[in-house]
Amino acid sequence: MVEDASRYSRRRLLSMIGATAGASVMYQAASSLGFAAESPYRGPVKLEGSPKGASVLILGAGVAGLAAALELTKAGYKVQVLEYREKPGGRSWTLRGGDRYAELGGATQEVGFDQGQYLNPGPWRIPYHHHAVLDYCHRLGVALEPFTQVNYNALVHARDAFGGKPQRYRTVAADFQGQVAELLAKVTNKGALDGAVTKEDQEILLEALREWGALEKDLSFRPGEACSQRRGYVKDPGGGLSGVPEHSKPVALGDLLKSGLWRSIGIGAGYEFQTTLFQPVGGMDQIPRAMAKALGEGVITYNAKVTAIRQTGGGVTVTWADGAKPGTTRTASADWCLCTIPLSVLSQIDKDVSPAMDAAINAVPYHASVKVGLQFKRRFWEQDEGIYGGISYTDLPITLISYPAFGYGSPGKGVLLGAYSWGPYAYEFTALPPEERVRRAVEFGAEIHPQYKAEFETGVAVGWHRVPWTLGCFGAWTEESRAEHYKNLCAIDGRLLLAGEHASYLPAWQEGAILSALDAVTRLHQRVVSL
Ligand SMILES: Cc1cc2nc3c(=O)[nH]c(=O)nc-3n(C[C@H](O)[C@H](O)[C@H](O)COP(=O)(O)OP(=O)(O)OC[C@H]3O[C@@H](n4cnc5c(N)ncnc54)[C@H](O)[C@@H]3O)c2cc1C
Repeated sequence: MVEDASRYSRRRLLSMIGATAGASVMYQAASSLGFAAESPYRGPVKLEGSPKGASVLILGAGVAGLAAALELTKAGYKVQVLEYREKPGGRSWTLRGGDRYAELGGATQEVGFDQGQYLNPGPWRIPYHHHAVLDYCHRLGVALEPFTQVNYNALVHARDAFGGKPQRYRTVAADFQGQVAELLAKVTNKGALDGAVTKEDQEILLEALREWGALEKDLSFRPGEACSQRRGYVKDPGGGLSGVPEHSKPVALGDLLKSGLWRSIGIGAGYEFQTTLFQPVGGMDQIPRAMAKALGEGVITYNAKVTAIRQTGGGVTVTWADGAKPGTTRTASADWCLCTIPLSVLSQIDKDVSPAMDAAINAVPYHASVKVGLQFKRRFWEQDEGIYGGISYTDLPITLISYPAFGYGSPGKGVLLGAYSWGPYAYEFTALPPEERVRRAVEFGAEIHPQYKAEFETGVAVGWHRVPWTLGCFGAWTEESRAEHYKNLCAIDGRLLLAGEHASYLPAWQEGAILSALDAVTRLHQRVVSL
């Protein structure tokens, strides 16, 4: 029986998706369901009119804080940014060999990757329609390269399907599409669609199904040239006398349906995952690095952990602990404060805000997520299996394996994303010490790529609710919490306003963080010039 999704509430739909389709689909759905609209960004903001010497304290130097700092500085404001970490970027973060990362609880990892290898523990891909992020990249000279989301030669895997043997994405996609097309063609020819489709349109539909499903002239999906052109050959066409191709045979529909592997083949069709996606050359932190460089020296104070935000009628005074001089507390004051600290952290900071804003700050829990990066001695996925970039999906707790989208064919080492999990699997992974997370990612991954055990060298694991400066992955709004609190969260509250991915309709994307910053500085500027 086909169930009608429109009968379900958004939350129920999400939990159904989570239960049946795996965490990566859940992420896609949670971050975009209902919000899948092209970014409204149409070019740099224009803050016209004099700020009359006004000063702004920006809390947090993620992409939201950095974009706000760039625009406010350009408009003539006196800007100071206070950032907890020793560098800019927040979640737009890249781990390389030599980096040291201490998580909540004290576990510390020394990243052992070779030069040129890296892991983006947070953002790793940029959709082509995230115009604001791309515009900052273009304006600041951040080089981009394609990120491969869908690779037909990557694998789909489920423990209980096909004896645990991974299947090619290509064969599952072709067999599913071909057999669905064949079934639909059959019911059309039996007249089952007569009430819904005119006779004339049925002819067109049959023609479309033949093309869409790679069906033969008799509308069957069976071994032959059309079918092999989609799912691949047993023996590829070659040259001369030995070049006769051998056609492959589709998997029976029942086996395919029961395998559940069809769950993994639609993800790339999602609006945020359609080609072309991009990644900055050399790691996601190239974006905040370029933004911080454009701001110039002295604007950002690093190692500054904000502990209190006081409003004094005419301005804001912030107390911060100076990480460069442990035990030292300092204050900073300005006429206005733009706070981009994640709500998971801000909710625990002593602050003067209205009850409505306070309720909003406390209303948004954060999703859990874990990423594990694994370095291998050689790029066996390319050399042995012809997998260049893209993602393999599994129902194992690692959820997916993503192959590096650069350096294709290079003879040296490579770093894979060896786990990217959400929900319960993320909690389970994060509850383990980092070295155990890495060990398990290798163990699970070896079920898909047996080469793992011989080729593995070193790894790093980031469990996002143990990251001290975000305590979670991204803000989990519901329709109800958004209806009740979103406006209050974004309102100018005395001399304070908030920005960040949590203050956007594009949660979990850098685009949302930047758009929220641009919206906030525009409203702030309107207020300042009108005073
Ligand atoms: C696992 C994961 C995958 C993601 N994938 C993608 C993706 O593929 N593409 C994409 O575009 N986006 C992705 N995102 C989302 C993206 O990372 C965020 O939307 C964006 O980076 C948020 O920017 P921000 O400036 O709002 O917050 P942040 O980047 O979190 O910046 C907030 C800053 O505040 C600082 N701070 C915290 N506490 C204090 C304090 N007490 N005092 C001073 N400073 C403080 C933090 O150190 C941080 O620098 C992903 C995120 C995660 C976690």
